[in-house]
Amino acid sequence: MTLLATHQSKHRMQTSAEISKTFSFASGVAIVSFFASYFKLLVERVMDPFSEDHTKMYFYETRLNTYVGWPFEEGCACTPENMAKAGFIHTPTENSPDIAKCFFCLKELEGWEPDDDPEKEHKSHSPSCNFISLKKSVNDLTVEEFLKLQKEKQKFHIKKYCNEAITKFEEAAKSRRGEIIKTAMDEE
Ligand SMILES: [Zn+2]
Repeated sequence: MTLLATHQSKHRMQTSAEISKTFSFASGVAIVSFFASYFKLLVERVMDPFSEDHTKMYFYETRLNTYVGWPFEEGCACTPENMAKAGFIHTPTENSPDIAKCFFCLKELEGWEPDDDPEKEHKSHSPSCNFISLKKSVNDLTVEEFLKLQKEKQKFHIKKYCNEAITKFEEAAKSRRGEIIKTAMDEE
């Protein structure tokens, strides 16, 4: 019994050493490949701020055209027109037809009520959004003002993609750790 206990405990120590060795190697490889692919995505999405994709949503009509099947029409405060004026684009999912997202700060809001004022909601949920605080129309901005605005928009986008990357990596690491521990315990 004593011998067996010693053997088991020694075996357990080796296993946990193995685990940390395997895990640090696996996570090292995973970190490199994970961030390489995410960085590529980030460059594609964010680093060309003057591509059509990055500028078209500055136009009211483009935002308005995203409202298909929006549940609030006449007699409501949050009509497609008022939503689009406040910078929101319609980004519904199968289960939530009323999701709207600011094209600039990427704030997503759902659960709209007919009396909700889109501009007020935007300001209260995303007070740091430069678009909703603009004092003049985008069409009246000077080139310099527009470039500064675009720079602020890029910051919101980079922050969001980096946070997504970190969350995804943490989830992947957690699941990999679980697999390694399970494999080690099965071997034991
Ligand atoms: Zn915003």
